[in-house]
Parts: sequence; C-alpha cells; structure tokens
Amino acid sequence: MDRKTGRDAINDRVRRTLVRTLYTQPTSLAIGALNGVVSGSIAAYIIDDLLFTGFVVLFSLVGIARVITASMLSPDNTANTTRKLELFYEAGAFSYAFLYGAIGALTLLYHPGSAVEILIVANALCYGIGVSARNAGSPIIANGQLVLTFLPILIACLVIGSLPLVVLAVTMVLVAPAMASITHNVHQVLRESIAAAENSERMAKKMETLAHTDVVTGLTNRAGLNHLLVEAMMDVPQDTMLAMFWLDLDRFKEVNDLLGHQIGDRVLNEMAVRLRDIMPEDAIVARFGGDEFTVVAKIDDRRHAERLASEVHADLMRPIRLDGDRLEVGASIGVALLPDDGTDADTLMQNADLALYHAKVNGRKQTQFYDSSMSRNLARKREIEAELRAAIQKDELSIFFQPIVDLETGRIKTFEALVRWFHPEKGELRPDEFIPVAEDSGLIVTLGNWITVQAAKAAAKWPEEVTLAVNLSPLQIKAPGASLGIFNALREAKLAPERLELEVTESLFVDDSEATELFISELSAKGVRFALDDFGTGYSSLAYIQKYPFSKVKIDRSFVSGPDVGKKTEAIIRAVAEMGAQLDMSIVAEGLEEIEQVKAVREAGCTLGQGYYFSRAVPDYLAAMLLAQERESDEALRKVG
Ligand code: C2E
Ligand code: CA
Ligand code: CA
Repeated sequence: MDRKTGRDAINDRVRRTLVRTLYTQPTSLAIGALNGVVSGSIAAYIIDDLLFTGFVVLFSLVGIARVITASMLSPDNTANTTRKLELFYEAGAFSYAFLYGAIGALTLLYHPGSAVEILIVANALCYGIGVSARNAGSPIIANGQLVLTFLPILIACLVIGSLPLVVLAVTMVLVAPAMASITHNVHQVLRESIAAAENSERMAKKMETLAHTDVVTGLTNRAGLNHLLVEAMMDVPQDTMLAMFWLDLDRFKEVNDLLGHQIGDRVLNEMAVRLRDIMPEDAIVARFGGDEFTVVAKIDDRRHAERLASEVHADLMRPIRLDGDRLEVGASIGVALLPDDGTDADTLMQNADLALYHAKVNGRKQTQFYDSSMSRNLARKREIEAELRAAIQKDELSIFFQPIVDLETGRIKTFEALVRWFHPEKGELRPDEFIPVAEDSGLIVTLGNWITVQAAKAAAKWPEEVTLAVNLSPLQIKAPGASLGIFNALREAKLAPERLELEVTESLFVDDSEATELFISELSAKGVRFALDDFGTGYSSLAYIQKYPFSKVKIDRSFVSGPDVGKKTEAIIRAVAEMGAQLDMSIVAEGLEEIEQVKAVREAGCTLGQGYYFSRAVPDYLAAMLLAQERESDEALRKVG
C-alpha cells in the first residue's frame, strides 16, 4: 500500500516533469505560430476566399492565444495542477493542429497553384511530424496533433483522387504509425531517465537525512548540528542572541551499566523528548553521542538563557517511569552565548564545552555560563601539558620516596613513591598540580609507566623485606594493557611482584568496570598487593574492601591533623583499625607530623604510620641511606646485645 502510493507519487512527479517539457520552449511555439500565420496569410491572399480567410484568421488567433497562455502558465507554480497544464496545452495543440490540417486540405481543394499548395501542405505535414517529436513528453498530445493535421489533408487527397495525391495519402498512412512508434520510444526513454534522476535525488536526500540523524533519539546528530548551526548563525536577527546549551546527563553511565543499554536508550529518548518540549519550536536540539545533548536557541538576553536552563534542570530531573521503576537523571549544563562568547561555531562550541566542564567540576545538576577565566585556566593547563611532555624527555621529573613505618618497631616497612617535577622556571611543581593535567590529556599512562619503572629500579636495590608503594590513577588502570605495563616495569627493574604495592583510591570503583576487576585480579594472582588510599575522603564504602583483595588501608591525613580532628575522627580510626585487625589488613595513618599524633594512632590500633614526623619524601639515595642507617643501628644493637 505504502509502496504503491510511493510509486504513484513518483509517477506524478515524472508526469509533471514531462508536462514541463511541453512548456519549456515557448519560442518554438511562437516560431510555429508565426510561420503558420505568415504562410496562411499568403495563401488566403492568393486564394481570396471568405471561408478560407475565416479559417486562417481563426488559425492565427489560436496560435497567438497559445503563445500567450504558455507564457502565463508556469509549471513551476504548484497552483497549476498537472492536469490543468495538460488540458490547456491539449486544447490549444489540438485545435491548432486541426486548423493547420484543415487549411492544408482546403488549399488542396481550392487548388490555387502548386507553389501555394506546397507551402501550406508541406508546412502542415512538417508541423505534424515535428510536433510529435517535440511533444513526446505527452504521447496523447503528440499523436493527437499528428492525426489531426494529417487527417483533413489525407481526406482531401483521397477526395481529389489524383495519383500523386493518393500516393501522398498512402505515405501519410504509413508515416503516422511510424511516428507514433518513435514518439512512444522517446517518451519511454524520457520517463525512465526522469524516474531514475528522481530516484537518485530521493536516495541522496534520504542518505543525507540519515547521516544527520541520531539513530537512538531521532534528533540531529553532531554532523547535522554543525550544518544547522552554521545556517542558524547566518540569519540571527538584530537584537537576538543565540545560546548554545551543552548538556551532559549525570550518572548516565551508571544507568547504562547497571540496567543495560536498552534502558539506557529509553532514558536518552525520554530526555530527547523533554528537551524538544521545553525548547522553542525553532531551536536545534541535537544529541552528541554518549549522554551529551546540545541545544541552540534564539534568546532575547542572558536572563532568557538562564530561565531556559533552569526549566531544563527542573524538567530533566522529573523521575522517569520505566516498567514500574522510577529513575531520576539530572544534567549538568554549560552555556555559551553568541555573540558575547564567540562569533563562530567552533569557538561557541568550545566555550560551551568548557563551561560544561566547569559545571561538572562544581558538582552535578549545575548550569555554568562561559566566562573568559575558563579559557585562561585552560591555557595554563595546555601549557603545563606541553611542558610535561617535554619534561619526561628532559629528565625534569624524579621520584621521591617517603617511608611508611611500623608503629611498633619504628622500622621502615615500605617506601611510597611520590613524583616530583623540578621545573627550570616554575620551580618544584607538586603532583596535585600536574597529575590531573596528565590525566586529562591521557599522558598519565606514559607518565605512570615511567614512574613505576623508575621506582621499581630504586626499590630493587633495597633489602628484600622493604616494599615499594606506587600510586595509580584510575585512568591509568582503565587504559588498555594496563597490567602489562606494570609487569613490564617489574621485569625491567628485576623486582619481585610481591615487593610491589599499588595504591588506588575509591574513585577507581565509582564506575565499576570490568577492566578494573581484571587489572586487580591479574596482578594479585602474581603476588602484587593493593592498598586503599585516602580512606575516609571518598565514598568509604566497605563494599570495596569486601570485594577486592586489599592488604592495606590508608586513613587519610584529614583524620589525623587539621580542623576536623576530634573525638569522632578518633572513633573512626579506632573502628577502621579494628576492622583491619579482623580482616588481616594493615592500617596506615597518613600525615603524622607530631609525636602526639603518632601515639594517638598507635593507641587507636593503627599498625603503620607515614608523615613528616618520620620523614618527608626524599630522593632515592637518601632513601637508601635511611635503610642503611637502620641496618647499622641493628648491627650496633646486636653487638651491644
Ligand atoms: P597521596 O598518595 O595521599 O600522597 C601523600 C601526600 O601527602 C604526598 O603529597 C606527601 O608528600 C604528603 N604528605 C606526606 N606526609 C605528610 C605530612 O605529614 N603532612 C602533610 N601535610 N603532607 C604529607 P604529594 O607528594 O604532593 O602527593 C600528592 C598526591 O599526588 C598524592 O597523594 C597522590 O595522590 C598523587 N601522586 C603523587 N605521586 C604520584 C604518582 O606517582 N602517580 C600518581 N598517579 N599520583 C601521584
Ligand atoms: Ca598514596
Ligand atoms: Ca593518601
């Protein structure tokens, strides 16, 4: 049914294109009419008969009327239906053809002399034949015209009955079907090529639409947005601004991972529908892959954009009902305005994206409008990133080691590797400044592997019972081949896996991924141990402790020193230490700066301590010296003993 109407639609368009060919050359109509009028008038003048002159006058009027109507009726005007165009043309063409034939017939009958007869009859026959080629777009018209010109002349020939005219009549009878067949063939070829052109145009349009549409939501996709944005920017009226909203759904990854992609897609769809509903009719709403959406809307001023953003927040936060379940998904929004924040599409998008980044950093469900300080921060980050790449090559980075001490015996059990950057101009840069940049740029993988190798090489020179702790970023762990990087480092440094401990933070488990699980299980199978770092600052979920084989938990230094320390923190340390004892995990207290703190955490049950009280992080030769001193005093004690 659908296919049939589809084909009919094509047929209609093909027919119209063909009818258009009837109207394409009005000059040929005019020349034909002029020719008819001139030769008709000559014949009328010579024959000098009222009936004949009447026919010629009528004939001339029809010719002129045809030229006028053809120039007035445009096939481009859709108000002129195909049928109407055909009818007008048919009426004119048929009457003109018949009158031409009739004048030809009358000329033969009046017999004014061979020259005039040749002029009129030859002209009429040529017209009949020529027109069937010209009007092949409509075989009925072409054939009808041919028959109507031929028939009166043919009858006249037979009526007169002279041998040459009878032969002419026979010739006409033979020519007519031949011409009809030619017309038919030309028509067929025309039809097919028009249909083919129509089809490929339709396909091209369809492909373009597909290429610009997001399959999940049916919204415009990135490519489509680029296209539409440029168009929208070209005709922004005066006193109007454009706002680009860049949205990122909060916690969407969790929904996808926990509930599956089908539910994920339904959530995306629902969000797409809501966005379309809130935003003005002429706004461009696009999905940017993943859980990101972009909206470009005309606005009156900044406040208008703020209103729209808060409406979006309110509406997206409404719970979604999914088969009886309720799901709440919010969004973070970054906004950039045209012309204030950028006058070209690229800048606008870049700044909206940057604003979104800040919205996410500030906590979820926030809107951030772009401001220029964001670009300055970005510039600083870019600078650090470029310098960091060079720094690895130029040996400006080094690894320092901070001891982790047994609180019972005071002996160094482990050294934690902490990276340092000695920048030729900026001086010593702290990891907190450049590790996030390395994470953002993906450089962390290279940097992390380098750190592990260097640290492991130093550790290989220490006494066997002293272990090495290395900090790993979540991104480093999720990178492909992460465990291989660690194994290679161990092999290169010739360090036994049992002597390596990897410190990870809880942020690693936020989006519980298979990659993380695999990484931890592969390495622990070979004897590498894991420590849970900064415990107490993040989610502090006991679920992770239960799920993964941690041999150590490091209580964050905010529990030991700082404004929040008090009875509560002490109780927490005590509880964690208790848990450690039960589960056979070492509990490290970080940030010990004073002897009182050391005493307190030991009292609370912590087995290990780390902090400036024992030592700051020191270069590898000093770390080796600390160990050597320990051995020396052991030796001395043994001698005394
Ligand atoms: P973290 O793993 O918690 O490392 C301990 C941080 O506390 C170190 O800062 C250390 O110098 C500092 N610290 C140690 N004792 C005390 C103390 O008694 N008082 C105070 N106030 N601070 C103390 P650092 O070296 O600046 O490192 C900061 C963070 O950077 C580290 O925190 C770690 O998360 C990250 N980081 C350091 N090195 C690396 C690395 O090689 N790879 C990765 N991925 N991250 C690293
Ligand atoms: Ca650490
Ligand atoms: Ca820590």
